[in-house]
Amino acid sequence: MNLNNLIRKNIKAMKPYSSARDEFKDLKADMVFLDANENPFETTLNRYPDPQQTALKELISKQKELPINQVLLGNGSDEVLDLIVRAFCEPNQDSILTLLPTYGMYSVLAQLNSIENIEVSLSKDFNINVDQVLKQVKPSTKLLFICSPNNPSGNIMDVNAVTRLLKAFDGLVVIDEAYIDFTTIESWMQHLNTFPNLIVTQTLSKAYGLAGIRLGTCYASKEIIAVLNKIKPPYNINSLTQQAAIEALQNNEVSDQVSSILREREKLANALASCFFVKKIYPSDANFILIKVDDANKRYDELLRHGIVIRNRTTQLGCENCLRISLGTPAENKQLLTLLNTLK
Ligand SMILES: *Cc1c(COP(=O)(O)O)cnc(C)c1O
Repeated sequence: MNLNNLIRKNIKAMKPYSSARDEFKDLKADMVFLDANENPFETTLNRYPDPQQTALKELISKQKELPINQVLLGNGSDEVLDLIVRAFCEPNQDSILTLLPTYGMYSVLAQLNSIENIEVSLSKDFNINVDQVLKQVKPSTKLLFICSPNNPSGNIMDVNAVTRLLKAFDGLVVIDEAYIDFTTIESWMQHLNTFPNLIVTQTLSKAYGLAGIRLGTCYASKEIIAVLNKIKPPYNINSLTQQAAIEALQNNEVSDQVSSILREREKLANALASCFFVKKIYPSDANFILIKVDDANKRYDELLRHGIVIRNRTTQLGCENCLRISLGTPAENKQLLTLLNTLK
């Protein structure tokens, strides 16, 4: 893999926007700041946020034991994924490859950027057929998206299959680990030094209980991170988000919640097994469970009528009659089970 050949020409040539706060970073310094056309009267939010998010990234870098120049932050991991597509895929020319069924955003990004999305189906139990993937790769294929644990199936992708793809694929492999905190397997982050074409994305939206602040993280080689940094919007992480994330990461107070969700996952899976209309419960390494039922549309409507909203995935490839249920609080899960037991 030659990174230089993967970066879009216009992006290689472009000069990044230099913001006022990039030039003079230290707002605490004893200076008078008349450079950014801000309102000078103190409201705690009158100044632009740190465009490099230094304090937050230093904390993440320390916790993840990864140099700060291998960390990029986005307005949700959705923004990170968008930056990756825009940095490396030439519209109307390049392609990405995705493995179905999976997270819907990859296909949206391909359409948005006018890029072909080569869709390869996962096996019946949602694993990767490596030979089939490699056969479908074209010279124009710049990115391969692997979601692990996968949404909506909930499983982690086989380590050997992913390793083979990392070695054999000439472009970049993006591993979306939005649900990594709900599994015991190690993050692919640990292998960034082995695979220069690896990009790992994570998020504070799921395990950390901070979907509302929109903070996604991206880990890769410093060369890849430098390209993404060059094109990111200057102030993509607002001040409130930076503050809230620092507090949450310092206090690290979600581990009890994650433990509860994991206990509930096992309890719910066991209870679902005795529902007559549940045909299959897929093993989950995430904070949701995918089940196959007798009639997904019917069961979805029944739940909705009783005020419980789940996700109907029946139209997704390989997910006929499948429903995706996020784990709730113990009380919410109990409410769900009580209702399920009354269905006929
Ligand atoms: C929820 C989800 C995301 C989105 O994360 P944000 O950080 O909230 O944008 C990304 N990838 C997958 C697979 C998800 O399920």
